[in-house]
Amino acid sequence: MNILIFGPNGSGKGTQGAIVQKKYGSAHVESGAIFRKNISGGTELGKKAKAYIDRGDLVPDDITIPMILDRLKEDDCKNGWLLDGFPRNLVQAETLHKALTDAGIKIDFVVEISLDRKTAADRIMGRRLCVNDNNHPNHIYIEAIKPVEKDGKMVCRVCGGELKFRADDQDAAAINKRHDIYYDTVSGTMAAVNYFKNVKGPKVITVDGSPAINKVSETLMSQLD
Ligand code: AMP
Repeated sequence: MNILIFGPNGSGKGTQGAIVQKKYGSAHVESGAIFRKNISGGTELGKKAKAYIDRGDLVPDDITIPMILDRLKEDDCKNGWLLDGFPRNLVQAETLHKALTDAGIKIDFVVEISLDRKTAADRIMGRRLCVNDNNHPNHIYIEAIKPVEKDGKMVCRVCGGELKFRADDQDAAAINKRHDIYYDTVSGTMAAVNYFKNVKGPKVITVDGSPAINKVSETLMSQLD
């Protein structure tokens, strides 16, 4: 099962992606997480990407596109993948579509989690990242996934691990820029969403991202069959 998942930052895309990935056992290929891993590992790629990410800009296509296309060729992607955070603009969408078509790989589903910009922005600042597992959702303002307290400190509600937050999640200008890119229907991420809504083949599922996490995932799962 090959799935593209779209949604603005703050829409719960990563959380829903992790639930879908668990159900189908497909590889979860998350562009932002690959960048963050490279930054914390001090790699050349991480050094090149960091300034763009801190500002909320896209990392240039000549770095991002080969990184993702190479990742999709790895062994764990042979039995399906869930691509999250890529494509982020029209050029990435067209390049991905061509590369997959040339390789004879089809996309089964295009999932779009829709959420208005104001709600998405409000949600971003409260999310926290578990240092042990990127797929452990924690959010200080959402009751269902609120971190737990241990020894006077908030820790991951799933594994008790330490929590961090992303610098670009606490910076209003960076959040704004990420949303400008997402909601841009001319050449940004919405242009990529619309591109994949119009190609032949994948089933398109649009889910309202505003209800609680379990409601969104119920709606999504009922259509992913
Ligand atoms: P995310 O975790 O999806 O919010 O991504 C964090 C940051 O990584 C973004 O704000 C971009 O700077 C960078 N990034 C992630 N995916 C892409 C992409 N497909 N193209 C360019 N930059 C990206």
